[in-house]
Amino acid sequence: MIHYKTKAEIELMRESALLVSEALAVVAATIKPGITTMQLDKIAEEFIRDNKATASFKGYHGFPFACCISVNDAVVHGFPTNDELVNGDIVSVDVGVFKNGFHGDSAYTFGVGELSEEVKKLMRVTKESLYKGIEKAIIGNRVGDIAFAIQDYTEKQHGYGVVRDLVGHGLGRHLHEEPQVPNFGKRGTGAKLREGLVIAIEPMINLGTKDVFHDKDGWTIRTADGKPAAHYEHDICIQKGKADILSSFTPIEAAEKANTELCSDY
Ligand code: MG
Ligand code: MG
Repeated sequence: MIHYKTKAEIELMRESALLVSEALAVVAATIKPGITTMQLDKIAEEFIRDNKATASFKGYHGFPFACCISVNDAVVHGFPTNDELVNGDIVSVDVGVFKNGFHGDSAYTFGVGELSEEVKKLMRVTKESLYKGIEKAIIGNRVGDIAFAIQDYTEKQHGYGVVRDLVGHGLGRHLHEEPQVPNFGKRGTGAKLREGLVIAIEPMINLGTKDVFHDKDGWTIRTADGKPAAHYEHDICIQKGKADILSSFTPIEAAEKANTELCSDY
């Protein structure tokens, strides 16, 4: 069953989504070679708690941390670790918060230090594909229109692998609601997009093969060929003509830019 949100509920959801964006901006300001992903997890969790919210992922089906932090060949659901990040790593940080009865859920992929051109392009195309999907997330379209737009751009136009095993989702009082929002599919198929539907769109795009496997920790999803993956996620509300993006990359991108300039001053 799909839960459509009222205007008042959407405003509460915007608050949750923007809090996730702010938490990711704190990560953006902090990430650098030498820091551990465990430190990043602690910083994000503290920020969420300071803002009178709880981390949605902690305890979700037993997930032990506030953030999913997935480095290089880890696609999603990575555990924070005590390993130090090194120059050239790419790090997907996925965060959820629960506030005022609603979840926010957003992800961003960060580069650490100097990245290869190949990895930079993967990140850029994956982020662009998210907005290609959002363009199709309007009243009158179907979930398959979003899915097709993402797959066409990343797989057909750029030759990347679109992960099939994991998908975006409805969002609200529960972290994962109906409908599922895949990053692959056919135009004109799937659930109809109606006013008040809030979904998390989250392309998970691999540089190489689309195939993935479950790490022995039971959570981390890794690419089968060991090549890197990127992941970006926005929460959006369906409306007429143009989706309302509830989360925001603006604070994250600003912090990322300031951090890069700071690092290049050394
Ligand atoms: Mg997420
Ligand atoms: Mg999600």
